[in-house]
Amino acid sequence: MDGTSTPTTAPVLILLGPPGAGKGTQARVLEEQFGLVQLSTGDLLRAAVAAGTDAGKAAKAVMEAGDLVSDEIVINILRDRLKEDDCAKGVILDGFPRTTVQAEALDTLLAETGQKINAAVSLEVDDAEMVTRISGRFTCGGCGEGYHDSFKPTAKTNTCDKCGSTDMKRRADDNAETVGQRLEAYHAQTAPLITYYDGKGALKTIDAMGDIARISKDLATLVAKAIA
Ligand code: AMP
Repeated sequence: MDGTSTPTTAPVLILLGPPGAGKGTQARVLEEQFGLVQLSTGDLLRAAVAAGTDAGKAAKAVMEAGDLVSDEIVINILRDRLKEDDCAKGVILDGFPRTTVQAEALDTLLAETGQKINAAVSLEVDDAEMVTRISGRFTCGGCGEGYHDSFKPTAKTNTCDKCGSTDMKRRADDNAETVGQRLEAYHAQTAPLITYYDGKGALKTIDAMGDIARISKDLATLVAKAIA
């Protein structure tokens, strides 16, 4: 995105919703169904922390406290990732934007490549449920498949149903104290984006409580229309 890029009509989808709403799970399903690329700023930041980059060093403590990483760091990370070739297929933004400043930066980035936002989908959930959802979740370190102690356990204890790996990971920030702070950050800084995208005519909403397969089906119907 250096101003010389060729305009593209590759789709851009945004998944909005509090932590635990299922953005990551549903983004992975959409990625497979529609051949789009999931871009999770949380994953990109966790990779930066693990790699010990300057951005990762600055983000680590903020993430552990459940606060939002600075707009500057997150926008830079996303801008770099969007330049990679695979993004030409179209992207699903999972966890970005999270502030109005980020939403405006995204508008500017997309204007440079002639892209538009096909839909910003708000996953609607009850706050009370989120703590339970987040506290029980874990991910396969081998293939990234997501699980939950109560809602989606592995068939065989500690073994991934998809790839057979026994390397299960739980996030450092998925604990009761941090979850409260993350929900607060969502309501104060991210929820206003629902109005932002409604004003642009891009907002769609999905009932994201209940059965994961039903939510995926509703979302697929909506996305098929949005990217047609
Ligand atoms: P997530 O994996 O989306 O739940 O993000 C985990 C943590 O990474 C968040 O609690 C924030 O500290 C940070 N983070 C992820 N995406 C963003 C973003 N767009 N803006 C600011 N901080 C972010």
